Amino acid sequence: MKTTYSITIGWLYPDLMSTYGDRGNIITFRKRCAWRGIQTTLIPIDSSLNAEKIGEMDFIFGGGSQDLEQELVMRDLKGKKSEAIRQKIEKGTPALFVCGSPQLMGHYYEPAEGKRIEGLGIFDITSVHPGIDMPRCIGNTVGSVIWDNLGTSEPDNFIVGFENHGGRTYLGKTAKPFARVIRGYGNNGVDKTEGVVYKNAIGCYYHGPFLPKNPSVSDFITRRIIEVKYGEKIDLAPLSDALENAARKTLFERFGV
Ligand code: GLN
Repeated sequence: MKTTYSITIGWLYPDLMSTYGDRGNIITFRKRCAWRGIQTTLIPIDSSLNAEKIGEMDFIFGGGSQDLEQELVMRDLKGKKSEAIRQKIEKGTPALFVCGSPQLMGHYYEPAEGKRIEGLGIFDITSVHPGIDMPRCIGNTVGSVIWDNLGTSEPDNFIVGFENHGGRTYLGKTAKPFARVIRGYGNNGVDKTEGVVYKNAIGCYYHGPFLPKNPSVSDFITRRIIEVKYGEKIDLAPLSDALENAARKTLFERFGV
């Protein structure tokens, strides 16, 4: 077992895709790594990045954004960067994409106005905004993670968060959901699925931000990154999640879970 691990994090367009405080996922992930002596390096994946650098990344994170920013991001992602991200995900690099970014990792996203945005096709999903007059999917969320779809079982299934999206996401034949909806809309407000998984990449609609409210998911991602990068299945030193668990308990009681 190595004594020191390091993780290079790629962060999709921090200035354009961090709606609803999604940068809090990066802060939480890095802090929980630092508390365990795991070094992290953060590289923004933005218009100034040379696509080759994506090959160095051990974890890719993308946050949410409005329709306009998604269009701007896809213009820059098209080509070498898209191919580099696709290769990483196909090789099993863990990733977490929240709201607007999993929409772009699917086949396409049709915004409320303007042309269809062709995606990377990594997730077998399609997303369609039903129009500006249709209600957005907004509110607190609770879900139950289907860990089997990520090839594992974890002691804690419940996830909590906040959603705010107009787009509705539909799973294709080969797509597996990340979680089942207990409260909220989830992917589309109809089929009770939340998010999507493919290999070690997770897409979900949970803002919040997501990881501070769900520390066990942050730790799962860390362990999976180390397993992929170093070939080691490790246990992480336990942290005192008393504050996080108290906040979760309050939410579960509020929502009658
Ligand atoms: N613009 C997308 C939608 O409305 C994503 C929104 C978001 O990332 N919060 O569905």
